[in-house]
Amino acid sequence: MVVSERSEQRPREITHWSDPHSETTSIVEGSGVYVYDDDGDEYLDFCSQLYCSNLGHDNDEVAAAIAEQVGTIPYVSSAKRSPVREELAGRLADISPGRLSDTFFSISGSEANEMAVHLAREYTNSSKVLTRWRSYHGGTYGAGSLTGDPSTRAALEQHAQTTGTARFLPPIPRAFGTDDPEELARLAADHLEFVIRNEGPDSIAAILTEPVAGTSGAFVGPADYFQRVRDICDEYDILLISDEVIAGFGRCGEWFGIETEDVVPDMITFAKGVTGAYVPLAGVIAPPEIGDMVAEEGMDLGQTFGGHPVGCAAGNAAIDAYADGVIENVQANEPVLRDGLADLEAEYDVVHDAHGRGFQWGVEFADPETGEPFHDPRTDDGDNPVDDLLGTCRENGVMFGAGRPTIQVVLSPPLIADADELRAGI
Ligand code: PLP
Repeated sequence: MVVSERSEQRPREITHWSDPHSETTSIVEGSGVYVYDDDGDEYLDFCSQLYCSNLGHDNDEVAAAIAEQVGTIPYVSSAKRSPVREELAGRLADISPGRLSDTFFSISGSEANEMAVHLAREYTNSSKVLTRWRSYHGGTYGAGSLTGDPSTRAALEQHAQTTGTARFLPPIPRAFGTDDPEELARLAADHLEFVIRNEGPDSIAAILTEPVAGTSGAFVGPADYFQRVRDICDEYDILLISDEVIAGFGRCGEWFGIETEDVVPDMITFAKGVTGAYVPLAGVIAPPEIGDMVAEEGMDLGQTFGGHPVGCAAGNAAIDAYADGVIENVQANEPVLRDGLADLEAEYDVVHDAHGRGFQWGVEFADPETGEPFHDPRTDDGDNPVDDLLGTCRENGVMFGAGRPTIQVVLSPPLIADADELRAGI
């Protein structure tokens, strides 16, 4: 590789995702639930860009809070106290379940998950972390090792040992050969216990899981599953970490996705929606025992931009917006998505299964002849029907996310979308 000579190659910003939109669409403007490209074409943003623009694209309050913070003091060292940071930590404690009260701020969801793992390992003095196949917990070296999605893991595993993690099957019917929710909950929990016993319970620090699967397609666990997982964690002294990077801040109908399961996790990780995606911010919310441990041991976890004051100002304004009708909007309009997708399933043989909660849904497609779901061929050579499908949707003015590894469209509209906008997307 010769890097000393200048080339004629134009400078590029390399998109990090295998996203069919990224090559062709340059987004230059946004308003409400719509975005506009450089040709002036309008798109209904049914993926909240990357499952994060929860408050739409022109929230004046968040924008004003950002401007005010920049005008007052844009940055304060993460090693110093900052009122805007303390205010957000207080609000996060107020909305968190159980005794989760102490926030460790970070910058991205990947880093928040790595921080939670670091805390769990230190607290339990064990090192392994169990995550689900198909899960996504981030793309950095550590978080990529936690991720169960093969397209993220493949490149990592080619070059490095992703030690310290093991995987278990998600509680989805195909993995356990049953549609019956009670049986599925039992089989999936038994399987998890089997994995724990085989890995060695004493070696395991934590189970890290999304309460509703995000990028793999909005799968929801059967009733009672998470309570069984909580019981198993308690029995074997393993911490339960809920990755709320997508599911949090109202996306699944509550402040945090795990609340619907009536389970209190030992830690929550958050990112994306905390600021409505106006600026980056992330973190871990933990109980006081973990906060005390960090203080007593003098653990250094800080990052320069962890808890950036501008992010915290945006977070405070975003939480006000969520509390002021946005989460209620998700609860009120969830049936529009649920019923609309059930109608599609009834009407079209190719629509195999629609699943989800709140404003996070996946639609899986299957061969009408065989009933077999189409498998995402991204790992093979050749054509990519997922790109074709999402490209066609985009040509029709709607942007969706892509689930995997079966071919799925992921619906994740901004949480401010009204019933008409939701129907238009469907
Ligand atoms: N966890 C989940 C559930 C995610 O969906 C993502 C990103 O999509 C991450 C973690 C990683 O977050 P980030 O991209 O901010 O590093």
